[in-house]
Amino acid sequence: MVATIIVFLIIGLIIIVIIFSPFLIKQQRSRFKKRSFPPLWNAIIENNFPFYLRISPIERRRLQGHIQVFLAEKQFIGCGQLQVTEEMKLTIAAVACLLLLNERGEYFPKLRSILIYPSTYFVNETVATGNYIIEERRVARLGESWIKDQVILSWEQVQQDIVNWRDGHNVILHEFAHQLDQEDGKAEGVPILPRNSDYVTWARVMTKEYQQLCNDVQKGAKTVMNSYGATNPAEFFAVATETFFEKPHQLLKQHPPLYELLQSYYQLDPGQWV
Ligand SMILES: [Zn+2]
Repeated sequence: MVATIIVFLIIGLIIIVIIFSPFLIKQQRSRFKKRSFPPLWNAIIENNFPFYLRISPIERRRLQGHIQVFLAEKQFIGCGQLQVTEEMKLTIAAVACLLLLNERGEYFPKLRSILIYPSTYFVNETVATGNYIIEERRVARLGESWIKDQVILSWEQVQQDIVNWRDGHNVILHEFAHQLDQEDGKAEGVPILPRNSDYVTWARVMTKEYQQLCNDVQKGAKTVMNSYGATNPAEFFAVATETFFEKPHQLLKQHPPLYELLQSYYQLDPGQWV
């Protein structure tokens, strides 16, 4: 009898935790957002992130709140004997949270840890090179986003991207755009959208733009987006995101439907910040 009551109590407790969990998370995040933002953090972000002073003061305050949540919830791990610094954490958090600035979603819910390597790192990759022939190769990487729980970044690449915000390449924007895409468990260039009808517009615009990039790359034509975007639709979304933030005017001029689609998705207009 006592054992049955205990079992029911435990089940009841689990149900209560499940029901109230989103509410408790929301409460905790609102506490994180209210934490004071140290002047040193502001100085680091101002130095490494030019958009910080170009967004409105309201958006800046909102970004600071997102950064607080991000830093509290995600774990940073140094790899290859790298010592993780405040600068690394703040730079990565600020750029990643730019994608969430206008409350467009969750805080990369699947992501648990950000692994940072000092520079280019190497992984073993299995590649099919012919019928029944599998080869293992050592491949150089600058960044990765895993569906399960990790983003991996090369700090040397992050530093190069910090120096040049206009070349259309940014490994943080790229890998965290993949995280948004992977939120539903699939990496296919389609993030979670607010309304069902949005998927129709997304498919129409993205398919056309992706095909155009593939054709242009095949012909060897000059493109505003990096040719790596022609690899597959998932890479196209990640590269389009980099271009949207780093070359907004060129993207708007040459691909207005794509710019408008990303503007509506991110609820941001980087063209106004330059
Ligand atoms: Zn990628």
